[in-house]
Amino acid sequence: ARLLNVRLGTLQRKMVQAGMRDEIPYDYVLTSDYAALLAEEFGRNPIINDEAAFDLYPPPPHPTPHLLPLRPPVVTIMGHVDHGKTTLLDTLRSSSVAASEAGGITQHIGAFCVPVTSPSDSGLDATYTNNTSDERLITFLDTPGHAAFSAMRARGTSVTDIVILVVAADDGVMPQTLEVIDLVNREKDRGNVGMVVAINKVDKEAANVAKTKQALLAANVSLEEYGGDVPCVEVSGLTGRGLPDLIETLALMADVMDLRAERDCSAVGYVLESKVQKGLGPVATVLVSRGILTPGTPLLAGTSISSTRMLLSSFSQPLLSAGPGTPVLVTGWKSLPAAGDEVLASNEADIKRAKANRLRKKSTDEVLQDVEALNAMRKADREKSPADEQTQSKGEGGKRELKIVVKGDVSGSVEALVGALEGTGNHLAGVRIVSTGVGDVTESDIMMAKSVDAMVVAFSVSIPRSIQSIASQNGVVVHMSDIIYRVMDHIQDCVVSMLPCTY
Ligand code: GDP
Repeated sequence: ARLLNVRLGTLQRKMVQAGMRDEIPYDYVLTSDYAALLAEEFGRNPIINDEAAFDLYPPPPHPTPHLLPLRPPVVTIMGHVDHGKTTLLDTLRSSSVAASEAGGITQHIGAFCVPVTSPSDSGLDATYTNNTSDERLITFLDTPGHAAFSAMRARGTSVTDIVILVVAADDGVMPQTLEVIDLVNREKDRGNVGMVVAINKVDKEAANVAKTKQALLAANVSLEEYGGDVPCVEVSGLTGRGLPDLIETLALMADVMDLRAERDCSAVGYVLESKVQKGLGPVATVLVSRGILTPGTPLLAGTSISSTRMLLSSFSQPLLSAGPGTPVLVTGWKSLPAAGDEVLASNEADIKRAKANRLRKKSTDEVLQDVEALNAMRKADREKSPADEQTQSKGEGGKRELKIVVKGDVSGSVEALVGALEGTGNHLAGVRIVSTGVGDVTESDIMMAKSVDAMVVAFSVSIPRSIQSIASQNGVVVHMSDIIYRVMDHIQDCVVSMLPCTY
């Protein structure tokens, strides 16, 4: 009101007229949108400072996607527990080592590539290059089960093109088999995932392939040999039998799916996993989806940035580039990005600006959440019946009380603060300290505050993000400060606001 040079009552009436709510308390917290709207109502010209609102976005879709170069398919292995997903992945991975010139030790980076060689090829001589040559690769996500798939799906992205449904021939269709069928069918409706069935453990005596196929048909999997569109391959992850068939089938499916991606644009990808690795620092496996990633390209994923010091293959070989559909270990991150984060390449200045903006937005979102919780709590307070008022917010002789849980860094500061706070107020409204303690604010502090309708004062201690969100979910106000007179000022303001209206 002071800024707009109007009376508070006028401002409050305007807010009611603008339909913001029925009744506006003087301490109602406004979002910038509402504040701007109100300023306009009073004939002002609000300027929202969005100088920092700069972000990076992936390049626009290509106008003629069918003319783009082909890319390797990305395959996920799913199925019932113990049906052999891990064994199958291990065998595929070691065949990829055998096929590479590296011939060395692989490291789990969340995904690996297997070259496609036609059965007539005598030796597996294709090398793990960056699919800049004509070599064809299949990329396998290295996390069996739903984890990788679901994590991406939850973020609205799907990096998987083909799901291999592994069914053990000695065990048949089991509950998780049905779950996968269900999941893939739902994805299929969106038209972006294919499925191949791998009937596994065919080396076992107890294997009954025919029975397994019947069970699959009964579960509505329309197998190719019965006129449907789902290919089925008999394999043994243990002995490697049928794996060339599986690779061949995947390659054929990829051909039909006609998977293409732009290479001639700035690189885009997704974080498959990230960790801190000895000697390398924070590293992340990035599955490139568009463009070509090269060492030295600044990257942004969430609010993590990387100078992309090195690109490493799953054989720990340094790479000069990684194209669409290939996974690559990226070093040079300043902090760990999260799995599922979109990775964008740009110049260093833009990466830094976008990061700053994202951080700012993140904290604004958090503040807005807190504001919502605060407003909700105040509303609930006002809606309390007069009887509640009597019992809950008034202490002895009808005196209103602000209940406080005090947490501080050392016992000395807690004592000093309690001493100062207890003197706040007068015979009509004052402070009651309900609990004190040394150390960070914990969940039990929040729950204790909630149970007695108190606020928390945190002096020179930190509040973990998780605890802050518990507080806002529970409508518990937490005041944080390192400066004693600021705490005093704030509490005094709170107490004053509790004084009964005399005008
Ligand atoms: P997951 O839970 O689906 O990842 O299954 P695993 O790969 O851990 O395999 C479960 C068990 O089945 C292990 O004891 C494997 O050795 C065994 N197994 C996996 N594949 C085969 C196979 O093709 N043949 C035989 N005989 N055993 C297998």
